[in-house]
Amino acid sequence: MSVLGGIIGLILGGLFAIFGALTFGLLPGSSAVALFGPLAPFVAPVFATLQAITSLINLHISVAALLWYVFAILFTWLISELASTSYFGSASHTSSMLPAATRPTLTPPPVERLLLGIMIGFAVAINSIFWVLAGKHPHQFPIPGHASLSAVIALLALLPFLCVFMAVSTSRGFQSFIAWLGWLLPFSWLADIVGFIGFVIAGIVSAAAGTFAGLRFDPATSSFELSITGLGTAFSMGHFNLVSAANSSPFNMPGTSAHEAGHTLNTMLFGAPFLAVNGIMIPLNQPVPHNRVWGELLAEGHRPHTLPGLPFSPLWTP
Ligand SMILES: [Zn+2]
Repeated sequence: MSVLGGIIGLILGGLFAIFGALTFGLLPGSSAVALFGPLAPFVAPVFATLQAITSLINLHISVAALLWYVFAILFTWLISELASTSYFGSASHTSSMLPAATRPTLTPPPVERLLLGIMIGFAVAINSIFWVLAGKHPHQFPIPGHASLSAVIALLALLPFLCVFMAVSTSRGFQSFIAWLGWLLPFSWLADIVGFIGFVIAGIVSAAAGTFAGLRFDPATSSFELSITGLGTAFSMGHFNLVSAANSSPFNMPGTSAHEAGHTLNTMLFGAPFLAVNGIMIPLNQPVPHNRVWGELLAEGHRPHTLPGLPFSPLWTP
């Protein structure tokens, strides 16, 4: 099911990326149509309409980018809600704790695997098409780009698609590849930018307040971790994670640090909107424990606990 979902996701993500490029004025309609090869005669009227609309609206690029991002979040939100519901039913928003006997490893319903594939394909298409376009329009992208370098990155950006196969996604080596490649994946950049700024501010403030407890780097997930005494929570923002000093744990064993690194992997594979949706769904899911939110189930699956009531969805660990 995840392979089928991946193909659907690639098509949706492709359309989404191309629509974005049209809206941003980065792609003439004729080039967009040419990308569809033999299907070009069928999609030409669609693009003509899209282009007419976008030229009519004539949005400033920053407004267009913001709108595009909001649509990406809404789409990701829909997928995430459907996935959570596929596990827990409509009760996911109303019932309380999971039964104590619940197995930590949830057996994914087929529809969840379909949705997982869609999310993977969607993000992969956006990341790869971005670099294809960056190669074609070196002057319009604020990236020191070269056409052949962009082409290589566009091809590398396709490889995370292999995560539709559990044998690949559970490989620790492949997870590291995704984590490091993530620095080059534009769909997750917003999380990294916000994360870096927050990380620096938190570092300065905690140092001034005397609560700075440590700075670590996990090469396996290419993520930085700042531990702060008395933080009271833990969260991840791209490659930058914050944890309470009391909860900092080895990166390769079940614990808070490995869980947050699991969020890093999620963000690199699914993009920054996936992380934003996680942050939206947790408060909305109250009073149900936040570990029923799909992003949490997948993050916990990086190095899952064996405790009942801390379920995980198998993606990073079988
Ligand atoms: Zn979490």
